[in-house]
Amino acid sequence: MTLHLKDLDPAALREAFAERGLPAYRADQVAGWVYGRGVEDPAQMTDLPASLRDELGTDLVLRALEPEAFEHSVDGTVKGALRTADDRIVEAVVIPEEERTTLCVSTQVGCPLACSFCATGALGFGRNLHTREIIDQVCRMREGLPPGRTLTNVVFMGMGEPLLNLPEVIPAIRTLLHPRGFAMAPRRVTVSTAGVVPKIRELLEAVPVNLAVSLHAARDEVRDVLVPINKRYPLAELLDTLRSLPRLSRRHPVFFEYTLMEGVNDDPEDARRLVRLLRGIPSKLNLIPMNPHTDAPYRPPAPEVASRFMGELVRGGLTTTLRRSRGGDIDAACGQLAARGRAAGRFTGRAVASQGERGTAEAPS
Ligand code: SF4
Repeated sequence: MTLHLKDLDPAALREAFAERGLPAYRADQVAGWVYGRGVEDPAQMTDLPASLRDELGTDLVLRALEPEAFEHSVDGTVKGALRTADDRIVEAVVIPEEERTTLCVSTQVGCPLACSFCATGALGFGRNLHTREIIDQVCRMREGLPPGRTLTNVVFMGMGEPLLNLPEVIPAIRTLLHPRGFAMAPRRVTVSTAGVVPKIRELLEAVPVNLAVSLHAARDEVRDVLVPINKRYPLAELLDTLRSLPRLSRRHPVFFEYTLMEGVNDDPEDARRLVRLLRGIPSKLNLIPMNPHTDAPYRPPAPEVASRFMGELVRGGLTTTLRRSRGGDIDAACGQLAARGRAAGRFTGRAVASQGERGTAEAPS
């Protein structure tokens, strides 16, 4: 029976091996090769008996994505287009910085939430990604890292709404965190949502990761347009849910993303309203000037408008960062990824996975 190894976190892999009459330590050895050393050919797993290597070579599927193309930004950002077994293209982005290297992963092909500023939203919805396809974004993208660099952070801010694909996302996170997986600290993993309120608790009860929320507006009438799921779960309901979450503190805040759009949500009154709205929620707020693309009619505000907006937030006591955009020249910046690939016809006939709500993937460290 064929087994997709990367659909299982290392604990579940032990169970799968036990069902086949194999000892747990054999599962640990295989996980060590795949996640620890990046070896995906059972023939090279030299501490396994030859009979088991043969068995795994026949029964175990180890790769879910194949590289299609990589684009390199002048600022070091790398965008990978990765092909699924059913011929979809998924994009993931590596953002190297001085002290960390962040990978932004996708969780769906396209996205059903249709945020009006987002190139992914304009694609519509293709399908949910499997756990193995989420994990393989990590495997494929780390292969291209320069010597001496390792992935330090993973953000679920690529294409798609992670909370609409929790059955596949949660096992992927478990593999990221597991000592026999990628052994990442929970604070190095961030999941972003546009505000799928009923699923927020489910995520945080399952895995102790950072939560990011794509806010983008301080008023329902504006957010209804920018992030249409707001019509179902309006601001008050979203923020009340966040306020009621256990474990939030100054050390474990919610990370809010706010894309600044000229004349839409950049008025100082919006900033003052934000301060009032977020009162009582331990939080950090990332301001991201809009990255223009052909699928949305929005533009970034002038730098002085962005600075004034930020000033209001800081005066109101909100911890705020004005993010520098990364990867704009290769359409890898926030909300851009689908734009150029589609326009150029490079990924003809197939949806292109893209990130929409990632604030340059400069996630919490
Ligand atoms: S911003 Fe996020 S949730 Fe909204 S359409 Fe884009 S990918 Fe989907």
